[in-house]
Amino acid sequence: MATRKAQKLPDDGARNGWYETLPPPPPAQRAEGAVTVDYAVVGAGIVGLTVARRLGELRPTDTAALIDAERVGYGTSGRNAGFLLKGHSHGGEKDLELGRRNDRLCAAGLEHLRDIVMRHQIQCDWSDWGRIYVAAGGPGETHLKHLADGLDGIGTAYSAVDQDAMEAVTGTRFYSQGIRADGTALVQPAALMRGLGSTLPENVSLYEESPVSEIHSDDGFRLICPEGEIAARQVVLANHIFAEELGVARSRVVPVALFASLTRPLTKDELALAGGGGEFGLLPASPNGSTVRLTRDGRILMRNTLVYGRAKRFDEAQLSEALANHREGIKRRWPDLADIELDGTWGGTLGFTRNGGVVFGEMAPGLHAVMTTDAAPLTRGATAGKLLAEQICGVDSALLQDMLALPKAALLPPDPFLKFIVNRRIRKAETAEAGEL
Ligand SMILES: Cc1cc2nc3c(=O)[nH]c(=O)nc-3n(C[C@H](O)[C@H](O)[C@H](O)COP(=O)(O)OP(=O)(O)OC[C@H]3O[C@@H](n4cnc5c(N)ncnc54)[C@H](O)[C@@H]3O)c2cc1C
Repeated sequence: MATRKAQKLPDDGARNGWYETLPPPPPAQRAEGAVTVDYAVVGAGIVGLTVARRLGELRPTDTAALIDAERVGYGTSGRNAGFLLKGHSHGGEKDLELGRRNDRLCAAGLEHLRDIVMRHQIQCDWSDWGRIYVAAGGPGETHLKHLADGLDGIGTAYSAVDQDAMEAVTGTRFYSQGIRADGTALVQPAALMRGLGSTLPENVSLYEESPVSEIHSDDGFRLICPEGEIAARQVVLANHIFAEELGVARSRVVPVALFASLTRPLTKDELALAGGGGEFGLLPASPNGSTVRLTRDGRILMRNTLVYGRAKRFDEAQLSEALANHREGIKRRWPDLADIELDGTWGGTLGFTRNGGVVFGEMAPGLHAVMTTDAAPLTRGATAGKLLAEQICGVDSALLQDMLALPKAALLPPDPFLKFIVNRRIRKAETAEAGEL
């Protein structure tokens, strides 16, 4: 019998501003006693939710358990900036076919999520506002030009937005330039995840507050949770950067922590300072820039500050630094809103690969893993989850072939080398592109 023991379990800390704006959820169903299912999916973020839904649909007479250590919507998938990207480019793609494949996967994920949201009337402030990539000065403009070249190469339509037009949208002259690409939705991410979790097929049971600390494999699998055990024929690890804690995809994914804050809803006068025209979504061209949204309910979301995330935890010093950076970001754009109350500052960890690669497929007999990394993780992750379920059930498609044609995530150097390299890159961007924050 083989045993995998989790070296570390999720703990996202005390705050998630998006989650806190929602009404409290009903009490969690925990994994208690002995449960037997056909499929066990570990991790109920965007990827696990889409794997479990599709397994339930394709195998209506089988049963599946979707298990999370926290509440659905509380983890990274519910603590991001809420951009459901139809495609993405970091610019300078050397392999244009790879860029096009990624865009097809993202676009399919966007439509898959749209279909579920519309069919189940999930209230998550879905809006097809799109996205504007922005620059605030020279360094950002260089990245923006690079990004535009990337979109040209892939064949994605976009239009230039000058400083006056940026001001008309946002009420600030902070941005010197932007480029607008349509086809992206903005959502309240915690609400979307909760909605996905509450509309799963009947043959899928959701277990929350049930961290899986061990997986035993011997003619099937036994997953150990604090109050019970789940026996399954097949297991899918959809637990993102925590897969390595169970011995899968080790040294393949760089964990990076990002931070965000949400203000209280702006008053009518305050909204006039922020463009007065309703919601918007801005993505920075510079790695040191800030993702900024004005939400449907009139809050400013500010997302900046990047740290190496191997700890998969956010300490007080990091949260204080992020809060100071978020305040600075608001002040630079809207000086009159510099002191506005924040309804939460929080961190989240996500994964990058060295080569734009993926973790997808069967890792050992009956043990599958799927991880969303790099660009557009929510939409590409939704597709990856759906496709993994289809692969398990023997359903082939052109999209699955696109997924299988992506490179596997390349091997990374171990810590402390990796930490050193990532920190050096972050510091370089912070110094050279400080004005983009
Ligand atoms: C601040 C911020 C902003 C971002 N903005 C965007 C954006 O606008 N658009 C975009 O596409 N992406 C964005 N991202 C990235 C995106 O949110 C993530 O890449 C994506 O949500 C990962 O999805 P996932 O399902 O793979 O993982 P997760 O959402 O991390 O889900 C994995 C789940 O597994 C659970 N888990 C882990 N280990 C165990 C265990 N042993 N037992 C039980 N459960 C376990 C965790 O609790 C977690 O809920 C952002 C991320 C951050 C932090």
